Amino acid sequence: APVVGVLAVQGAFREHRRHLEALGALVREVRLPADLDGVDALVLPGGESTAMGRLLDAFDLWSPIRAVYDRGGVLWGTCAGAILLSTEILGAPPQDGGRQRSLGLLDVTVQRNAFGRQVDSFAVPLEVAGVDGLVEGVFIRAPAFDRIGEHVEVLATHHDRAVMVRGARLLATAFHPELTRDRRLHALFLQQVETERQGHEHVRRSGRQN
Ligand code: GLN
Repeated sequence: APVVGVLAVQGAFREHRRHLEALGALVREVRLPADLDGVDALVLPGGESTAMGRLLDAFDLWSPIRAVYDRGGVLWGTCAGAILLSTEILGAPPQDGGRQRSLGLLDVTVQRNAFGRQVDSFAVPLEVAGVDGLVEGVFIRAPAFDRIGEHVEVLATHHDRAVMVRGARLLATAFHPELTRDRRLHALFLQQVETERQGHEHVRRSGRQN
């Protein structure tokens, strides 16, 4: 079974853990860089991206997370987690006036709180590419992906704005699949993790023959 880290410094990480374990993954809660040793994938949950970023500063997690990606790991960000994956963040800058830090892995411009702060939480049925039937999208002060990079694919939209995207070894949802009972998006993620692991296995094996 794949070992999946779930960033557990803040936000809805327990719900992700439950879904992933129900699907057979080995889940490790990540609070310190050492927790990332040997993980095949990492989920960055929802929460509040500024606060979460500060915790990543405090626990020195930025470059270890990037290292998971660089060694072939698959990353999935939901809501605040998706913001942290993006190359460019608009809206709600930090109070100190500086730029909000991010991992800069997913080539999109993400707009924070894209669906308004007043009526900020809602649930809508979404069509998701590659998934049969509708998926309930739970949006909580959700972002939207407004500029989509060349190698990024849009998997779902709401009101003509991208709310689920996929890049190379990257998945991002503006909404919260972990807050529903539906595990299909977690299954989709684990499928991608499995595909990457098999790819590695293949490279290792053919390397040995040479
Ligand atoms: N609005 C939050 C942010 O910008 C994200 C909300 C969420 O993760 N549910 O960080």
